[in-house]
Amino acid sequence: MEAKKLRIALAGNPNSGKTTIFNNLTGSRQHVGNYSGVTVEKKEGTRRFKEYDLLLVDLPGTYSLTTYSPEEVVARDFIVQEKPDVVVDILDAANLERNLYLAVQLLELERPFVLALNMVDVAESQGLMIQDKILAEKLSVPVARMIGNRGEGTERMLESVVQAAQQSARSFSIDYGKTIEEPIQELVNQLSALSQDLKYPIRWMALKLLENDQDIMGRIQNVAGGPAIIAHAKTLRETLQKDFDEDPEMTIATLRYQFVGDLYRQAVSGRPEHAVTLSDKIDKVLTNRVLGIPIFLGMMWIVFTLVFTVGKYPQDWLAQGIKVGSALVGQALPEGDLKSLIVDGIFGGVGSVISFLPLILILFLAISLLEDTGYMARAAFVMDRIMRKVGLHGKSFIPLLLGFGCGVPAIMGTRTLENPRDRLVTILVSPLMSCSARLPIYSVLIAAFFHDDVAGNVLFSIYLLGIVLAILMARIFRSVLFKGVTEPFIMELPPYHLPTIKSVFIHMWERSVLYLKKAGTIILAVSIIMWFLTNFPSNVEYSKDYEAAAEQAEVQFTQRVNTEINEPLNIANIDENNALKDTIDKILAVQEDFKKATEDLDDDDSQLAVLSAKQESDLKTIEEEQPEIFESANHYAELKGDLEDAKDELDKEKGAEKIGQSYAGTIGKFLEPVMAPLGFDWKINIALIAGFSAKEVVVGTLGTIYSVGDVGEKTLPLQTALAADPAFNPLIAYTLMVFCLVYSPCLAAVATIKRETNSWKWAIFASAYTTSLAWVLAFIVYQGGLFLGIGI
Ligand code: GDP
Ligand code: MG
Repeated sequence: MEAKKLRIALAGNPNSGKTTIFNNLTGSRQHVGNYSGVTVEKKEGTRRFKEYDLLLVDLPGTYSLTTYSPEEVVARDFIVQEKPDVVVDILDAANLERNLYLAVQLLELERPFVLALNMVDVAESQGLMIQDKILAEKLSVPVARMIGNRGEGTERMLESVVQAAQQSARSFSIDYGKTIEEPIQELVNQLSALSQDLKYPIRWMALKLLENDQDIMGRIQNVAGGPAIIAHAKTLRETLQKDFDEDPEMTIATLRYQFVGDLYRQAVSGRPEHAVTLSDKIDKVLTNRVLGIPIFLGMMWIVFTLVFTVGKYPQDWLAQGIKVGSALVGQALPEGDLKSLIVDGIFGGVGSVISFLPLILILFLAISLLEDTGYMARAAFVMDRIMRKVGLHGKSFIPLLLGFGCGVPAIMGTRTLENPRDRLVTILVSPLMSCSARLPIYSVLIAAFFHDDVAGNVLFSIYLLGIVLAILMARIFRSVLFKGVTEPFIMELPPYHLPTIKSVFIHMWERSVLYLKKAGTIILAVSIIMWFLTNFPSNVEYSKDYEAAAEQAEVQFTQRVNTEINEPLNIANIDENNALKDTIDKILAVQEDFKKATEDLDDDDSQLAVLSAKQESDLKTIEEEQPEIFESANHYAELKGDLEDAKDELDKEKGAEKIGQSYAGTIGKFLEPVMAPLGFDWKINIALIAGFSAKEVVVGTLGTIYSVGDVGEKTLPLQTALAADPAFNPLIAYTLMVFCLVYSPCLAAVATIKRETNSWKWAIFASAYTTSLAWVLAFIVYQGGLFLGIGI
């Protein structure tokens, strides 16, 4: 007898056991390739069952069938276009509600269908009772129970598959209610009248048109009569939008959700209950109603104090190393624009970003530890009570927490939220979580303007502000943009376990590499652009002749040396008195040593007293060697010091004038009227503009501006330069931190929002609302601080 061929697609959520079952079925008869045009892996295999030759395809795991990811598109296109004889949806019985959400979407694709209820062992151990009869009835599909990893239920499932393949017509559809069913019917009528067969199920296409599915609209647009249908769908969407006061895709998703929720409650009973384990005992404390949140906040506080105090040491070493490297390269290059570009632009910009790598490594180490021990899942559980109050889902917490690392994975992490409203609200507030790229900004400003004792608290207050704002904004978005219930919390708490060093380091490494890649590409480009903007135009008209002023200072110095030192000693030149010359050199050497040793010390460093006592005693020794000449030598050293100071001052003034007249200065000054109420001058404005591309660029840009402004031989660390700038004070520093926390997410994050929401509208909205909010908050902080007289 000749074998009958059946093509079978295995679909399902990630981790539902698809691959396990696929491997059971096909053994070694597998072939791995790629879906054309995308990087999604395609696994095919064969199996003989009774008189059938089965060709099985393991589809990518997805939570939904929209167009949010290539996996989703691949999965639905395969089912729609390749028309497999049977679709087997593999569900994780222990997470049934979430899995059913995908199931109903697969059912809407109208292929013969088998529902494979996998992981029933896990569900049973949790005390869940699933009545598959009810599922089978309500969805009108066969249901097969399976325990994939033990190979149980495979035969029965294949039996159902063969039966399903023989029953041609199968009808299931959710009743979306009159207001939506009517437009669906109108579109169904129009789509049926099209001359060209689009292969897709008609009702499904109608639904997708109402859901604004770009992929399907594109396909219909291209057939004769298509554009008219699309135009009609648009007006139907607009009417629905008015009726429900929200995007129709939201309404439809919510109704689909309600259907799934009802079905779940009918088919499943029993509360999860199992023996008390050590994990449960730990959970009694960590997820305790009263203690949970304080413990969580305590954990976060420890993490950030750790990052800041421990991270400071390697950060200092790296900064020193970059300084030395920059000086070496500077010596090797001839004077000119190229040297300025490399030393000021590239080393100044990218260097200051790289020196923050240790802080970021420690932060990621801490986050990896929290994730790998299983605490992160508890944090989400504990936070669910709060999250729910603001209209977010407990699961929103994990993407938001990822936001402390970087907004891009945070936004991508919202994929675990199946409900599109929950997802969109989470995406919109996630940039308010202070990402690691902002840490360098806080770090520099705190080092420059706040005492070590309060540094941890200042930093903590900024992170806390971000969380509070995210909660407030989520509440606002919920009540203004999308109304509706949140899905109940379903999430497993994995047992606690000791993390392996390897996995913690892999996590930490992957994230740090991402950070460095950003530093190497976007930030390099922006540093070069900023260098250009701050150095050109180069033909600056100075308000005074700095060269002449410097010469003038020299002349005055020589005159005073003549009248106050040479004449009383009866010499024409200090070189005539060897003892004098010697003593002067020794004094200058002692002073030089002192300056070098104290350069990087804070004003209140205890080292300072020690070093200055040493200087005193060194000078005393010199005085004892040459008692009669010491007075004159010391006076010479004083005059010399004054001269150096005067020249430094002129250099700085000149540099400031130069940058003030540069392109960057022009833009920054243009914005001054808007930013002045926040206490920001043009230099800060320039840095903030550059920060749109990536937040860490703010530091690089300030570095460039301040080292260009400081034409002297030594480039002071940025924090010293900022502390020395009279335009800055602790209040402005704090206001700037608040502004940087809140204003527009970086380009990469905005681009991710566009990709994930499939709309520029939301991407631009995210950027605009955060920037406006930042201005308002900074205004309140700065004006409030001025009013109360704090930090000025
Ligand atoms: P996929 O992401 O859907 O391909 O899921 P996998 O096949 O990779 O399975 C995820 C994990 O679940 C693996 O560790 C499997 O061993 C395990 N697994 C699969 N089926 C069952 C089951 O029925 N019961 C239990 N307890 N574990 C299962
Ligand atoms: Mg798999």
